[in-house]
Amino acid sequence: MKNKAILTFLLIIFMIPAHVTFSDEVNIYSARKEYLIKPLTDEFTKETGIKVNILSAQSKVLIKKIIDEGKSTPADILLTVDAGNLHDAKTKGISIPIRSNKLMKLVPAHLRDIENHWFGLSIRSRVIMYNPNKISPSKISTYDSLANSELKNRVCIRSSSNIYNQSLMSSIIHHNGELYAYDWASNVVRNFSHSPKGNDRSQMTSVVLGKCDVTLANTYYLGKWITSKKEIEREYAKKIKIIFPNQNDRGAHINISGALITKYSKNIDSATKLIEFLASDRAQEIYAKKNHEYPIRQDIEVSNIVKSWGYPFKMDMMSLTTLGSLNNQAGIIFDKAGWK
Ligand code: FE
Repeated sequence: MKNKAILTFLLIIFMIPAHVTFSDEVNIYSARKEYLIKPLTDEFTKETGIKVNILSAQSKVLIKKIIDEGKSTPADILLTVDAGNLHDAKTKGISIPIRSNKLMKLVPAHLRDIENHWFGLSIRSRVIMYNPNKISPSKISTYDSLANSELKNRVCIRSSSNIYNQSLMSSIIHHNGELYAYDWASNVVRNFSHSPKGNDRSQMTSVVLGKCDVTLANTYYLGKWITSKKEIEREYAKKIKIIFPNQNDRGAHINISGALITKYSKNIDSATKLIEFLASDRAQEIYAKKNHEYPIRQDIEVSNIVKSWGYPFKMDMMSLTTLGSLNNQAGIIFDKAGWK
C-alpha cells in the first residue's frame, strides 16, 4: 500500500509538464495603463505558467523607485513609453543588456537600444494635426513648415518639458544640425497662438475650438477620441485631421513604447520570455490595436481606425537610441529658443 502511494506520488510529479512551475514570477513596473497589458500577461501566464505582477505609476516615479529600492527592488521589467525615457533609465544604470536572439530578430534594429538594454514593443508617430476649415494641408506638409511666418499666431504645441517634444527635437538635431534646430524652434515659438500649456489632447482641443489651427500630437490620441465614450470627444475627432509629415524626405517622426530588464532582476529568464512574447506576432496585433498604435513590424495588421489615417506611411528610420543621446542638447535648444 505504501509503495503504491509512493508510486502515485511519483507519477503525479512526472506528469506535471516541466515548464509549468508556478514558483516562476515576473514583476513589471509599468508606466503603461494596466488595461493595455493585462490581457497579454494573462495570455502569457496561461501559456507558460509564469505569474505576472504589475505595478502601475508614472515613468519618472518608477525609475526613481527602482533606484531607491536598489538590490531589494522586486521589479524585473520596466515598461514605459518614449526612447528618451528608456535611454534615461539606462543612463541611470538600472538596466542590463538583454541577451535574446529572438528579440534581435523580432525587433527592428532602429527600434532598440544599440547595446540591447531596451527593446521597442509598439510604435507611435508624432504628427501634424490641423483644422481643415482653417488651413490647407499643402501649407503644412513638414515639421519645417510649422516655422513659416505665414503661420504666425496659428500654432499651438505643448511645453518643451514634455519628453515627446524633446525626442522630436532630438530627431531634428540629428537630421538638420543644431543651428537649424535652433532657428526652427525660435520661429515656431514666434508662431505660437498662446504660451504652451496642457497636454497633447488640450492642444487638439484648441485646434477644434479655433484657438489655433495647427498642432503636433501623437497619433493614438485621435484614436482615443474617435472611440471615446464621451460624445463631445467623438464630435471633436471629426473636426481635426492628421498629416504624416516629411513624406517626401526622411519620413514622420516615430517613437516607441518599450521594455528593459532591471539590473536587480531575480527572474531574468522569465522576464526575457515575457518581452519576447510581447514582441511576437500574436501579442503585437493585440498590443498595438488596443491603444491605436502601430506594431513593430509592418506585416502585422493595424486597426481600421489607424488604417483610415493612411498606412503604411513613411517613417523616420533613424536609430531611436539617438533620441536619448541628444536629449540634453534638445533641452538646451528649447531653452535658448524660449520654448517654455
Ligand atoms: Fe501619451
